[in-house]
Amino acid sequence: MSDAAERHHWRVHQFYGLRPGPRLLVLGAVHGNEVAGTLGIQRIVAELDAGALRIARGCVTFVPVTNPLAHELGRRIGDRNLNRNLRPTAVPQDFEDRIGNLLCPLLDAHDGLLDLHSFQSAGEAFVMIGPEDNTGALEPFAQAADEARLALHLGVRRIVDGWLSVYEAGVARRRARAQRIGSVLDADPNYGVGTTETMRARGGWAMTLECGQHDDPKAPEVAYQAIRQTLALLQLAALPLAPARTDHEVLRLMEVTDRLHVDDRFVREWASFDPVRAGEPIGVRHDGHIVAAPADGRIVFPNHRAEPGHEWFYFAQASGRRLVSRPPAPAA
Ligand SMILES: [Zn+2]
Repeated sequence: MSDAAERHHWRVHQFYGLRPGPRLLVLGAVHGNEVAGTLGIQRIVAELDAGALRIARGCVTFVPVTNPLAHELGRRIGDRNLNRNLRPTAVPQDFEDRIGNLLCPLLDAHDGLLDLHSFQSAGEAFVMIGPEDNTGALEPFAQAADEARLALHLGVRRIVDGWLSVYEAGVARRRARAQRIGSVLDADPNYGVGTTETMRARGGWAMTLECGQHDDPKAPEVAYQAIRQTLALLQLAALPLAPARTDHEVLRLMEVTDRLHVDDRFVREWASFDPVRAGEPIGVRHDGHIVAAPADGRIVFPNHRAEPGHEWFYFAQASGRRLVSRPPAPAA
C-alpha cells in the first residue's frame, strides 16, 4: 500500500444557516491539477470567514481539494481516477478508495452538488448536466428541472448532457476488446460513475462545471461566480441572482473513442467543441486506420496524451433538448 494515506488528511469547510434549507456540496480538485474550483472555493470561504458573506439557511459544504494525493502530484489522478468507479469499499485498495469512503457519505448528506473542474485543451467553459427525467434502468432521474434552472444561471454558454449513456456504450466496447486481448482494462460497468452520477443515484441533483483550460487565469473567476450564483439561486445566501444567459447551446455526448496504442495520433491539434463533418478524419491509429467523425458534430475533451485503453476523445451533437428556467417549488 502507498504511504499516501499517512501523508494526507481531508479538509472540509461547512457552514450552516440557522433556518432550514437545501444542502449544497461544492467540490474542487476531484482531479488534482484542476485548481480553478479550489481557488474559487478559497475565495468564497475567505469571504465567509471575513463576514462579507453569510449562509442564511440550509447548509453549504466546501471541499477545496477533493483528491489531495493527485493535487500534491500536480496531476489528474493519484493512484487512479477518483471520478470513475466511485463507491464505498470495505477494503480500500488504493488512495482513491479511501477518499471514496469519505466522499460517498458526504454526497449522501447533501441535496445538490456543484463539482468544479477544468480541462486540458483550449476552449470555453461549459457545464455538464444529467439526463432528462426518466425511469429507465441506467440513470433514472426526477430533478432535471432543478438542474436545468441552475445550469442556465451558471454563467456559461454551453450545456452538455449524455455522459453516462455514452460511457455505458464505451465500456461495453472496451469489455468486448478486453475479452479479445485477454486484459481487464477499465471494463467495469460502473466505470462511468463519478461524483455527479453518485449524487443523482441517491436522489440529488448534480452538475460538473468545466471552468476553462487548466491554466486559464479566468477559470477561477468562472468557478467563483458559479458558486455565488448557486448560493443565490438556492437562496442559501442573500446574494443578487444574475439573470440567466439567453445564448445557450445544448449539446449531447454521443460517443466516446478510446486511444488504443501509444502511436495513435490526432490528425491535428483539436480543441473541445471544434466542429467536424461526417467522415472527416479525426485521428490515425498506429496501423494507419483512419478514425473519422460518424456524423456532423463536435469533438469534446480531445486528449492527445490519453493512456492506451483510455478515453481519447468524445463526439457530441446539437441536442433537441429545451431547457427552461422554471421557478423552484416553494421551500418545504
Ligand atoms: Zn476533471
